[in-house]
Amino acid sequence: MPEAHAPSPRHATSGLGRRLAALLLAGLLACLPLAAVAASVELSESERAYLQARSSIPLCVDPDWWPFEQIDPSGQHVGMAADLIALVIQRSGASLRLHATRTWEESLAAAQRGECLALSFLNSTPDRDQWLIFTEPLLVDPNVIITREEHPFVSDIGALKGKSIALPRGTAMAERIARDFPELRIVPTESEREALSLVSERKADMTLRSLIVAAATIKHEGWFNLKISGQIPGYDNQLRMGVLKSETTLRDILDKGIATLTPGERHQIVDRHVRLDVVTGVVTDYSLALWVGLVLTAIAGTSLLWMTRLRKLNRQLKALAETDALTGLPNRNALNPSFSLDILRAQRYDRPLSVILLDIDHFKLVNDDFGHLTGDKVLEAFARLLGDGLREVDTVCRWGGEEFLIICHETDLEQAALLAGRLLQRVRSHVFPCPRRLTASAGVATVLRGDTVARLMQRADESLYDAKHHGRDRVGIKPLECTCAD
Ligand code: GH3
Ligand code: MG
Ligand code: MG
Repeated sequence: MPEAHAPSPRHATSGLGRRLAALLLAGLLACLPLAAVAASVELSESERAYLQARSSIPLCVDPDWWPFEQIDPSGQHVGMAADLIALVIQRSGASLRLHATRTWEESLAAAQRGECLALSFLNSTPDRDQWLIFTEPLLVDPNVIITREEHPFVSDIGALKGKSIALPRGTAMAERIARDFPELRIVPTESEREALSLVSERKADMTLRSLIVAAATIKHEGWFNLKISGQIPGYDNQLRMGVLKSETTLRDILDKGIATLTPGERHQIVDRHVRLDVVTGVVTDYSLALWVGLVLTAIAGTSLLWMTRLRKLNRQLKALAETDALTGLPNRNALNPSFSLDILRAQRYDRPLSVILLDIDHFKLVNDDFGHLTGDKVLEAFARLLGDGLREVDTVCRWGGEEFLIICHETDLEQAALLAGRLLQRVRSHVFPCPRRLTASAGVATVLRGDTVARLMQRADESLYDAKHHGRDRVGIKPLECTCAD
């Protein structure tokens, strides 16, 4: 059951349990123990004495709140909070140790019992002020109104009489909305995910959610009929560290570390987990969250400008949904609409168009033998290698997992097979960031009359299967005559 522990609902979201990507730096930071490296802030004598008296300070976190934070399968604290806190402890000299729990509620209970002295990433609320003190915010993340695509922009939520808003039951956010906007009809849900899904399925008009979590969830669940329609000023998540009331010195030490965080560092960390940089020219210097918070507050009331900003936000959200966070390549969502058109065009003008489906051989063993972080680094390197080996007119995308798709324009089956062979040679001779040599297999198919994306990809898949079946590290090609009849 979600509990009201923040101005925004904050509770385990099962759909978010999957990592978007364990990115390189996040992984590196996560591999370090939460320990002091070198203090780069001036500590007072009493602060130094406080740290010297404690070998490490137990920290409780939310084990399932991706992309903000999570405890990964290897027991490491990962996500934006983990990266921000890693910088804070590195600079303040505080030495924190993860006290792992299974749920956020368990973390709160452990803190109340004094088993952990600090909590990682939460809003301050009157309830919590009874027993916690808070640092300055690590991150400010606006809550945004999410509606379906066709809904007009919302400049004044108070004017939406009788509209329904799905909100997780019993959260502080539901309480606040009921108090501040009694004209809205609240549809209670059991989770944040359910709230978004009710909006997507037309069972509620809107929901309110953290911009960052909304972006990650919409992308993960594929709810592309949703958009950001507005923001309620003052409904920001000010995500801070919480410290037991008795530990004022610890709070002061952490605050000194937090004061060193620059907007650029916050931007990089947000970006690392949700890739917000894909629309250029809009946000460059600040994390999207900070930027949106500042800009939207400043322009509240100026509706034209307001709508322009919201459109930009939605463009960012769309770009975010269409980019693979790990490799930066377009993902399948990005490709599908233009892929169908490419096929139609090739058929209509009788031009050759082929695809190469590449799959890394025995990739599971890379994860099993060297860990997921190495697996991720290999995927990033593999994506770069493919990009470098192609013409600009070819399109490469991460089709899923360790499979990559290349669309080769003006290329017939034979030429595509040659290109695939060259790419496999590059893979064979490349030194990946992994102690093992790697190979890949490829399946090639070319567009035929009557083809759809599904039929073409089915042939590419069968070709790939043939390559795997015949020993891997080779190109599989479906003979043309097999494919025309059905
Ligand atoms: P084959 O030669 O038959 O393709 O064998 P394989 O081991 O490559 O294929 P399999 O489908 O058995 O395993 C694919 C693995 O890829 C399993 C999955 O955990 C891993 N994987 C998928 N996406 C990611 C990712 O983003 N990061 C990491 N590290 N691993 C991933
Ligand atoms: Mg594979
Ligand atoms: Mg595969």
